[in-house]
Amino acid sequence: MTTTLTAPTATPQASVRKPRAVERLVAGQATSDGDGVKLTRVLTQPLQRRLDPFLMLDAFGSDDAGDYIGGFPDHPHRGFETITYMIAGRMRHRDSTGNEGLLENGGVQWMTAGRGIIHSELPEQEQGRMEGFQLWLNLPAADKLTTPGYRDIPTGEIPELHLPNATVRVIAGESQGVAGAVQKAHTEPLYLDLHLEPGATFEQPLPAGHNAFVYVYRGELEIDAGGVRTPVPRERMAVLAHGADSDGVRVQAGADGARALLIAGKPLNEPIAQYGPFVMNKQAEIFQAVEDFRAGKFGTPPGR
Ligand code: MN
Repeated sequence: MTTTLTAPTATPQASVRKPRAVERLVAGQATSDGDGVKLTRVLTQPLQRRLDPFLMLDAFGSDDAGDYIGGFPDHPHRGFETITYMIAGRMRHRDSTGNEGLLENGGVQWMTAGRGIIHSELPEQEQGRMEGFQLWLNLPAADKLTTPGYRDIPTGEIPELHLPNATVRVIAGESQGVAGAVQKAHTEPLYLDLHLEPGATFEQPLPAGHNAFVYVYRGELEIDAGGVRTPVPRERMAVLAHGADSDGVRVQAGADGARALLIAGKPLNEPIAQYGPFVMNKQAEIFQAVEDFRAGKFGTPPGR
């Protein structure tokens, strides 16, 4: 009897043969939300179709408590999911389904608003740095009125891919055999936090039809489309183009290294109707959301 041995292969950098180019760089808009929290809206409403299934990306970061201390008191959501990723600081979450959690450095909160939730997100600190991101991921029409849900993913439960000169935190999806903390059907979201040492390169295969973007929050990097290299400075989002036969993305950190989010997903290609914190498919469903909220159908607000 013979035994066929498969040689253990150290997974090399996944091979991307035709990396995507940058379609455009986006600076985002300075704004405030909640009770006066200063933030940058990186993915704004005009980009919702282009970056379907993602509806919004906010970046917040300040050492000045005056910029964040008001937090986000009770407010409703319906029809999508909010994904909050904390880089620094502490925020307390409470919601109308009775859930409560503390979002801390490196942790993620994945909240499914579904048919309706009221929550508050309030800083649990009076000084020091508060920094992080909130991404909104749309739900398919069939799931918009699903049961609300909430999951805290502490930093220690986020799988990491360790390469010689890079660490990749895999929040959702998969990277080089490392399955992320969250896997979702329908939109198949990929959410990676790339920590790249100076000059490090990283490649990630991406399905051709998925919409994808990179947001740089430390240092700078270049997106290498095989000959065409596009520098992406700090605090810029690069929307990745759809090449006819492109199969992924390749990045290279600058001389000071870089940290960046790489986010991708399968578009829903469904109508989007948004009114503030409600995102449905039709205007009539928005009216219904407002009516249901006013009628108390989202449950009891958690209060401060
Ligand atoms: Mn919210």
